[in-house]
Amino acid sequence: MSTESSKLAFDDGWQYAPAPESTDHVSIDDQYGLFIGNEFVEPESGRYFDTINPATEEQLASIADASEADVDRAVRAARKAYSDAWSKLKAAERGKYIFRIARILQERAREFSVIESLDGGKPIRDSRDIDIPLAAAHFFYYAGWADKLAYAFPGRNPVALGVAGQVIPWNFPLLMAAWKIAPALACGNTVVLKPAETTPLTAMKLAEVIRDADLPPGVVNIVTGAGDTGAAIVNHPDIDKIAFTGSTEVGRIIQRAIAGSGKKYTLELGGKAANIIFADAAIDQAVEGIVNGIFFNQGHVCCAGSRLFVQESVADEVIAKLKDRMETLIVGDPLDKNTDIGAINSARQLETIESYLKVGREEGAEMHQSSCDVPDTGYWCRPTIFTGVSQSNRIVQEEIFGPVLAIQTFRTLEEGLDKVNNTPYGLSGGVWTDKGAKIFRMTRKIRAGVVWANTFNKFDPTSPFGGYKESGVGREGGLHGLDAYLKLEA
Ligand code: NAD
Repeated sequence: MSTESSKLAFDDGWQYAPAPESTDHVSIDDQYGLFIGNEFVEPESGRYFDTINPATEEQLASIADASEADVDRAVRAARKAYSDAWSKLKAAERGKYIFRIARILQERAREFSVIESLDGGKPIRDSRDIDIPLAAAHFFYYAGWADKLAYAFPGRNPVALGVAGQVIPWNFPLLMAAWKIAPALACGNTVVLKPAETTPLTAMKLAEVIRDADLPPGVVNIVTGAGDTGAAIVNHPDIDKIAFTGSTEVGRIIQRAIAGSGKKYTLELGGKAANIIFADAAIDQAVEGIVNGIFFNQGHVCCAGSRLFVQESVADEVIAKLKDRMETLIVGDPLDKNTDIGAINSARQLETIESYLKVGREEGAEMHQSSCDVPDTGYWCRPTIFTGVSQSNRIVQEEIFGPVLAIQTFRTLEEGLDKVNNTPYGLSGGVWTDKGAKIFRMTRKIRAGVVWANTFNKFDPTSPFGGYKESGVGREGGLHGLDAYLKLEA
């Protein structure tokens, strides 16, 4: 094509050809029961609910709704498996089972990626390159620790807690299940896990993997349902540890519910992470990091960089480059390998995001959205930025959990730092600068569990993750993630 004709084609609205991931290799049952004692069983009430594809609004499967009695059945299976089998196994044998789960997940990675994108709406690139490989990596990592716990805590005697109750959100369904199940099993506990009601399918597939890996029945039980099912786990008297990831609002309810019960707990809650760009930063690299940090996975990331502070002298340049880059982002079919931003996870979440867009405009901020087309059916939100915002605005203070970025400026390092820390949350942050000394000053003073420098949203099973303030209690990942599932006796 000549330069002239390619320019014309571009001006005409040049598009990538569709590159959909095949779904031929994926099988989803019409209906899933509760996974208790290595079998799929009917819920006591006989009630089921639908899980849908948020990109098409079509039903994918019907899912059992677990009652208190079902949760009790799962806890009893977990207790029996703990007493009769899991606690009696040699630690190295436990490790072998966990390695087996990791290997099967790797073998079935394509299938899991497609199901994660169908059920949750996230782009296949994210499921394929981030969620599923990281989930397998967590099982590999913790499998290695199973027979080395004494070395992890020298001079202490690490003892399993018993039965762990685990409740997870919809933004990283399989990965959150792996974060919870892998360390619990490595430490010798058994598990009752509840996935989120809008994304139960990869947990059901994980149940198949656990059965195929031949784990003793009852070591991992997966019960599905909404908040009431979660509450039944939290309140069950025979559970020794609660691990929860989700909103700060529900985290508070859980903390109150288990106060005085003696249950050990970890709470991984909401966030309102800030990126801070200094004038000396590599601007193009920083803009790319900001785009990844907030628009990646539709902003459905607890540590999404939803606030941006730019040093005043480069603010115009950064905002202009951000707007240009936003225009190139592709919003649409999660199964298309070209898609950057998939579907919003549910109608309810889209409603929440849209209500914040309204709040932002009413607060007097200037809203800019990319001009891309979005499909007619399904739940979609164009990448959005707000400028002209102030610290007290709700869109700056509250978690939106969508592809929405609030931008402010600062002049001095101290002013930038004050603004970054002016939030009830403290999960993560990002610093963009060419100067190592500035990185060290900022990362020491930003009150957040993780602070990345000249990059953002990088995860590894070996590093701990968790929040300050309203972002939670405790750490998951790395050695800290083991501590959360053990009593350390003298
Ligand atoms: P949510 O709190 O509404 O739900 C999370 C889970 O809790 C779901 O499985 C839900 O069914 C269950 N639940 C609801 N009410 C309950 C109750 N009363 N008792 C027990 N369980 C209950 O959160 P969400 O909307 O699914 O997820 C988004 C939130 O999760 C965001 O706030 C996000 O920041 C947070 N998150 C945090 C992390 C982290 O590591 N800190 C990671 C991912 C997501």
